[in-house]
Amino acid sequence: MERILIVEDEEKLARFLELELRHEGYGVEKAFDGRSGLELAESNTFDLILLDVMLPQLSGLEVLRRLRRSSETPVIMLTARDAVMDKVTGLDMGANDYITKPFEIEELLARIRVALRRHVPRTGASETLVSGRLTLDPARHAVAYDGAPISLTNREFELLRALMANRDIVLSRDRLLEEVWGYEYAGETNVVDVYIRYLRQKIDDAYGVKLIHTIRGVGYVFRDAEVL
Ligand code: CA
Repeated sequence: MERILIVEDEEKLARFLELELRHEGYGVEKAFDGRSGLELAESNTFDLILLDVMLPQLSGLEVLRRLRRSSETPVIMLTARDAVMDKVTGLDMGANDYITKPFEIEELLARIRVALRRHVPRTGASETLVSGRLTLDPARHAVAYDGAPISLTNREFELLRALMANRDIVLSRDRLLEEVWGYEYAGETNVVDVYIRYLRQKIDDAYGVKLIHTIRGVGYVFRDAEVL
């Protein structure tokens, strides 16, 4: 049974989530403040953590920061509407996803399934990434659509690889900068937007698909094209 920790100080919401998650067959534990949430997370093994941002004692972001020193357990942040900075900071600090309150339970359940599926240990950096007709082969440094090669620069290639490797996970500009340009990059973050535009021209626009999505104020996410 997959086990989920809920860290949420709105007790009614926490209980509601617990009922829904148990109904879906998950094992559930709850904490109502940041400190006890962190303690539970550190002393138990969970498959996923739902972590509210606004918490007494320790904020959700602080819990996440401390947790990430030693744990890769998937974390979905529960954020207030319009709290764009919380979303960006949370993603930069290693949250796997976020959902904005108020949310539909079905959407949360879907995101939980994605986060649990994504957490399957990586099969290696040289694995070919496939999304519909698009393939990216790291070993051959080759990208193709329907078997036809697409010519990408190194940066474009690495950016596409980061996006495809994190399919369905929203990546902030800072996270992409870090992954593709490296920590020491000191330029403007809009370099990411510029390269996203190049990639879209060469893939989305060229083949009439929508794979690279903008999450306003937050970053970008790669999703499989709708099957027609
Ligand atoms: Ca709260």
